[in-house]
Amino acid sequence: MKIKENIFEVIFPSNIYCICCGSVIDKSRPYALCDSCVEKFHWATGKTCKKCGKILEETYKNDYCHDCMDTKHVFRKGYTCSRYGLYERAVMMDYKYNDRSYIGRKLAEIMADRMKKEEIIWHMVIPVPVHPSREKKRGYNQSELLAKYFAKKADIPFDGSILIRNKNTEPMKALDLAERRSNVKNAFCIKKGREKDIIDKEILLVDDIFTTGSTLDSCSLELIRKGASAVDVLTFAAGGNLSLG
Ligand SMILES: [Zn+2]
Ligand SMILES: [Zn+2]
Repeated sequence: MKIKENIFEVIFPSNIYCICCGSVIDKSRPYALCDSCVEKFHWATGKTCKKCGKILEETYKNDYCHDCMDTKHVFRKGYTCSRYGLYERAVMMDYKYNDRSYIGRKLAEIMADRMKKEEIIWHMVIPVPVHPSREKKRGYNQSELLAKYFAKKADIPFDGSILIRNKNTEPMKALDLAERRSNVKNAFCIKKGREKDIIDKEILLVDDIFTTGSTLDSCSLELIRKGASAVDVLTFAAGGNLSLG
């Protein structure tokens, strides 16, 4: 993984081209995003759901999104940086499928800045794991890289091996909420002998995108069951409610 990251750093040096539109930018630009792309992103700077952290319309009357009024999440609170719109999606697809792992570092910087204002001190950052067969195919786990870079920036211990995906689940894209939940049910476990490391710990679980939260709930359930005192979740972007299309 190290070699791969380094090679792409040379071919696509970060901080020279905007990670979203590819236009040439000043090396000093934060997050390697040009001004125009910074404006196109929907940043979570306004009203957000008090439970899952999704962006809400300013005119929306409730403190909780539709999904959170219907579903009880296992995690304590969700945090996100942006709404998963056209531009966020373009960057994420590039990061996940075009081998541009350095983009993860930029997204993690955004996530670290987003979390600066939160006062909780988490004991550890854990990524949502992928099944080993999928990681082998892609070469790296994009959530793990995000979590690792984020943890480094935020100065929180990182642990990428404690939570394991023991079931190679179906891609979630075409599934509805009930199918998503059953797809990831019991899909995660704690590595043998590592249970003691999460007891009474406050954990920040990191993933790239929040959709229904089914995967994050399933991970949280396993961590709580095995003794973690609380699990919060952080993603780069969160989609809209499924119930709202
Ligand atoms: Zn741009
Ligand atoms: Zn919500």
